[in-house]
Amino acid sequence: MRSPQKLNKLWMLLVILFLSCSIEEEEVIVHQETTKPLIAKAGLKQIGTGVMMQAFYWDVPAGGTWWDTVKGKVQDWSNAGIDAIWLPPVSKAQNGPFSMGYDPFDYFDFGQYNQMGSTETRFGSLVELQGLITEAHTAQLSVIADIVINHNSGGASQANPYTGGSTWTDFQPMSGKFIRSYHDFHANGIHNNDSGAFGGYPDMCHHQTYVQNELWKNTESVAKYYKNVIGFDGWRFDYVKGFEPWVVKDWKNEVGGFAVGEYWDGNANTLDWWTSQAEVSAFDFACYYRMKDAFEGNNLNKLNDDMLWKHNASRAVTFVANHDTDEIFNGKMLAYAYILTHEGYPTMFYKDYEVWLDKNKLNNLIWIHNNLAGGTTTNLFTDTDEYIAKRNGYNNAGLVVYINNSNSWQERWVETNWANTLIKDYTGHSSWEPVTQSGKWVKIQVPPKSYSVWAPK
Ligand code: ZN
Ligand code: ZN
Ligand code: ZN
Repeated sequence: MRSPQKLNKLWMLLVILFLSCSIEEEEVIVHQETTKPLIAKAGLKQIGTGVMMQAFYWDVPAGGTWWDTVKGKVQDWSNAGIDAIWLPPVSKAQNGPFSMGYDPFDYFDFGQYNQMGSTETRFGSLVELQGLITEAHTAQLSVIADIVINHNSGGASQANPYTGGSTWTDFQPMSGKFIRSYHDFHANGIHNNDSGAFGGYPDMCHHQTYVQNELWKNTESVAKYYKNVIGFDGWRFDYVKGFEPWVVKDWKNEVGGFAVGEYWDGNANTLDWWTSQAEVSAFDFACYYRMKDAFEGNNLNKLNDDMLWKHNASRAVTFVANHDTDEIFNGKMLAYAYILTHEGYPTMFYKDYEVWLDKNKLNNLIWIHNNLAGGTTTNLFTDTDEYIAKRNGYNNAGLVVYINNSNSWQERWVETNWANTLIKDYTGHSSWEPVTQSGKWVKIQVPPKSYSVWAPK
């Protein structure tokens, strides 16, 4: 968890930034009749105090209905303790009505131009997108945009003097905005490549001044348009291994908002390096792979290995599954019990929440996260099939979580932070209500293949 005091200061700063921005950019806003005043955003929950919902999975139903589907759920999610929703890339991509958005073509076609085989995107129209964002804001949720700027897709072929052949780098989107050519992709007059390319897609050059201006610097750049006109509050950067961290840092410094990068790497040191360079959060792939080892490999000792949140919890976004990778099947609820009781900003995967797992149990864990899971973490016991840790509390009591991957009930004496205190299991999995000793020790229990979470009653 972050320090609430720091968050308050940050929040104040953001409000001031918003106010100053809204004066500067009034002109942009006035002629957009569907745009809500920016000041309304001050009523949103503080990002990171609750849980983020990844509001899609790979191949959600096509046909332009997804924005409406999500719109129908945001109030319930907010009631359950969600504080932000992460949407898939919202603009028209090469595969038009079938695309999940990761093959971007026209950054300013939100389903209002007939190109790439359809007017609407796979998810819906511009009006439906704005309806969803308005509904989310009404429910006090921030909305996070998925930003794909490593590669582009769907350009026409053109002769390229830098490669000596022809490349698919001629982009003439119907929006008329951010027209691109071979100058804006590698190789070009600046250099041959950046830190990575995705498949064979044209790899955008962020060193190009025009690209910087169109992506985040100009008044109607992608970043400012998405924030000020469409209404996004934060950013999830796709495939950040494909370019240098300063790109994300510059974007964030220009428009603000919460930001998280998809640096797909299981090495906690590397993730920590990237977050300090980009000065934003990263998905905790180290935590993900250690949990996979722990639950799929039946060895909970792996939970004591290195993870990003152990380096810097304020920059770690933890997750059990996402649209790209979903490999923890054995003990998936136990993995959610882990991330929702530990440090970092946890993500809930739509399909787990709405389809595969027990929503009541997940809601219970979200409540525990938001109300009890404060402060630093102390490991109390670990072996191959049992794991016990305590959160030491920060403006709350803290908790003790007991995860059991064995096939039988387990019980253990543990040292809590509470003396002579009646405690209970907030998951309801155990009916014990023991009183801690004067020395703060107490015996707790947990059912087979399950978890319990203890705190003062
Ligand atoms: Zn470049
Ligand atoms: Zn991805
Ligand atoms: Zn790249």
